[in-house]
Amino acid sequence: MLKIKVFVFNPIQENTYLLYDETKEAVIIDCGAYTDDEKKQLSDFINEKKLKLKHVLNTHLHFDHILGNSFLYETYGLKPEYNPADEAMPGVKEGIVKFGINAFKYDVVLAEQYIDDKDIISFGNTRLEALSTPGHSPGSLSFYSEKGACVFTGDALFRFDLGRTDLWGGDSEELLQSIENKLYTLPGETVVYPGHGEPSVIDEEIEYNPYV
Ligand SMILES: [Zn+2]
Repeated sequence: MLKIKVFVFNPIQENTYLLYDETKEAVIIDCGAYTDDEKKQLSDFINEKKLKLKHVLNTHLHFDHILGNSFLYETYGLKPEYNPADEAMPGVKEGIVKFGINAFKYDVVLAEQYIDDKDIISFGNTRLEALSTPGHSPGSLSFYSEKGACVFTGDALFRFDLGRTDLWGGDSEELLQSIENKLYTLPGETVVYPGHGEPSVIDEEIEYNPYV
């Protein structure tokens, strides 16, 4: 059975998801661990549960979702996997992003393995299907577990809210299409785990989300 541990990391309060099942194999979706304390929280949990990390996945390459990738590479030898359309995003290959009055620096680790729409990522007894859900960024992906009845939407869909589309490569029409065609067509009871904030459910989003 799929288990989900959420950490809220970095000043942007990003949701870092650790998924694992009865085999102890695990994947991380969007590692935003930035401080030493955050990195320790994550590795302590992995050690306590004796998990074996198999994949590091990114829904997209905004800095708050990738700050921990270098830590995971150094600690577990795994490079991130993501959609290549986001690699041209400013900052991704430089390892420095200005955000308000702050600058975030990180060691750059790029993918060797890319993910496209409908790709399957397997670990233990669990399969995740990649869904291309662009609009917040060109390469935005969601990861869907049919058996686990859940979907990890990054910054495409939040609880009763949407991702912003005013950043590099954003497109509001594309985002609405992604949500309507890829996310709202999932089974209604599917739990939505977004990149920020609380979880939701597809049926409730269809009924109550004021934007789509
Ligand atoms: Zn984002």
